[in-house]
Amino acid sequence: MIKKCLSCGKLFKPDKMHPYQKICFNKECRILQRSINLRKWRIRNPDYFKNRTDNLEMMKEWRKNNPNYYKEYRKNNPKIKEKTRIYVKAFRERCKQNQLFVD
Ligand SMILES: [Zn+2]
Repeated sequence: MIKKCLSCGKLFKPDKMHPYQKICFNKECRILQRSINLRKWRIRNPDYFKNRTDNLEMMKEWRKNNPNYYKEYRKNNPKIKEKTRIYVKAFRERCKQNQLFVD
C-alpha cells in the first residue's frame, strides 16, 4: 500500500511493522516524525516531567533539612575530592576533543 508523506508529500511504502506511519523515510521527515512521537509521548505521560520537578523540590527540601550532609560526606570521604578532580579533568578533555566550550 502506497501512502503520501504528510511532511514532504512524496509517495512512499510504509514499513510492515508500522503500517499506519504517515511520514516517509527521508532524513528530514524522520526528524519530524521523532518530534511528533516525542510530543505524543509527553501527552501520554504528563506526569513524567512533573514527577521530575517534584523530585527536585524534594531534594532541595532535603538539603535544606540536612545542610551538613555534604560537608560531612566530604570529610568522611577525603578521596571524593580527588575523584571529582579527575572526573572534571576528563570531562574538560572530552569537551576539548568535541570542540565544545572552547575558551
Ligand atoms: Zn517525507
